[in-house]
Amino acid sequence: MANTPTAQDEHRVVEAAPTGLFIGGEWRSATGDRTLVVEDPSTGEPLTEVADATPADGAAALDAAVAAQDSFARMAPRDRGEILRRTYEIMTARADDLALLMTLEMGKPLAEAKGEIAYAAEFFRWFSEEAVRIDGGYAIAPNGASRFLIHKQPVGVCLFITPWNFPAAMGARKIAPAVAAGCTMVIKPSELTPLSMHMIADILTEAGLPPGVLNVVTTSEAGPVMEPLIRDGRARKLSFTGSTPVGRILLAQSAEKVLRTSMELGGNAPFLVFDDADLDKAVEGAMLAKMRNMGEACTAANRFLVHRSVAEPFAEKLAERMGTLTVGRGTEEGVQVGPLVDGKSRAKVDGLVRDAVEKGADVVGGAEPVDGPGYFYRPTVLRDVPIQARMVREEIFGPVAPITVFDDDDQALAAANDSEFGLVSYVFTENLDRALRVSERLESGMVGLNTGLVSNPAAPFGGVKQSGLGREGGRIGIEEFLETKYVAIGFSG
Ligand code: NAP
Repeated sequence: MANTPTAQDEHRVVEAAPTGLFIGGEWRSATGDRTLVVEDPSTGEPLTEVADATPADGAAALDAAVAAQDSFARMAPRDRGEILRRTYEIMTARADDLALLMTLEMGKPLAEAKGEIAYAAEFFRWFSEEAVRIDGGYAIAPNGASRFLIHKQPVGVCLFITPWNFPAAMGARKIAPAVAAGCTMVIKPSELTPLSMHMIADILTEAGLPPGVLNVVTTSEAGPVMEPLIRDGRARKLSFTGSTPVGRILLAQSAEKVLRTSMELGGNAPFLVFDDADLDKAVEGAMLAKMRNMGEACTAANRFLVHRSVAEPFAEKLAERMGTLTVGRGTEEGVQVGPLVDGKSRAKVDGLVRDAVEKGADVVGGAEPVDGPGYFYRPTVLRDVPIQARMVREEIFGPVAPITVFDDDDQALAAANDSEFGLVSYVFTENLDRALRVSERLESGMVGLNTGLVSNPAAPFGGVKQSGLGREGGRIGIEEFLETKYVAIGFSG
């Protein structure tokens, strides 16, 4: 494929993506042939239509997952691992097409979409290796009168709900460990970006995943389709990635049948720059932590807390870098910032910026939508953002960097921890003692120390406080899909 894909390339990858519901190993239409439109956020034009599942279709998907669970749990771990390994290989070989499809449905620049495909594929490789490392234990009871056999079993049927911002990786992060553990599943991708998940379902099938193990239901009625499945009682786990308000609703629904839950929810990441920081490194990290995915990431730096003595040069350097970014359609060569996902998201970002400015923030650069089709917003730097500004408490989910100053470490930590969220924090300092002290006291599941990127399939990703429950990835990622069974063995010596 040429550097900038042609209209034919775009047409080809959209045409290749399945548009049905994937149930019991087959692509099929929704009941009543219902469809929903998938839009290109860089033009606002329709890309294609996909099947729009009804609650009856959701029930059929759960039936298929339930029917496949028993035999899949008994498949040899090596065979499950090989399916995951082949999935990694196919995704890697088709990375260009998968990335283009993602850019078309979601908007992120092609280079970032390729990065996400590599990241998503890596979950399949990582968990192909973990599938054969599920272990247990054997122990002697303290009084010597019995023996303990401890082993791990798949949790059972899982329900997955994923967001639009990382259309491949957020699903891969759940599907790969579930397959490794021997769980079947129903996944509901976001209605805004279903095509990437449809392609992954196709690839998993090509890699040998048995029918019914993975079922995909795209729908415009997320609540009515998923709630009955959560309350049904046959699924044993719900894993959700999305906003905290929706996570709260799903946790309440899961309580009825006491489902195991994993919740990867919203963030409000503080980005701390201390007076001894390497400023160039901090600006580099800020660009990554803020501008990856146009700021539409749960890990996006949401509040820049900068020591007073370096605030001026940091703001200037950051505004200068942000000002040089090329905004445009993600398929075009050289574009670094794509559109926001829809008009509602752009209006929300603009509303947060206006609110901050009305309350006294200074605009260093940007602070306005881009005219024309598509949902573009200019990279924005705001200084002296007052604590009353809504963006201090709410996820911005856009290319906006609000800066406030602090005078000492305690003040910085108090401000950083003053949030209901606790997903990730970023710390820039060259002082090792301070780095460790601050990292320990930050109330977040992850800390980026002199780096603006924490995501890695081999590391445990997740938050504390209202950013979620559980961890995805790393050695403990598979544990979310395993139950521990203990067998007490009478022993007479
Ligand atoms: P969202 O509105 O919570 O939606 C997430 C998913 O939930 C979508 O598939 C959505 O379907 C579905 N959904 C919405 N209401 C539902 C309901 N009542 N019942 C069942 N499903 C429902 O979040 P989003 O706007 O897509 O994604 C952005 C949010 O995700 C941000 O808060 C971000 O921080 C968070 N996020 C967290 C992580 C993490 O790892 N912690 C990673 C990425 C994103 P439709 O889209 O089809 O309506």
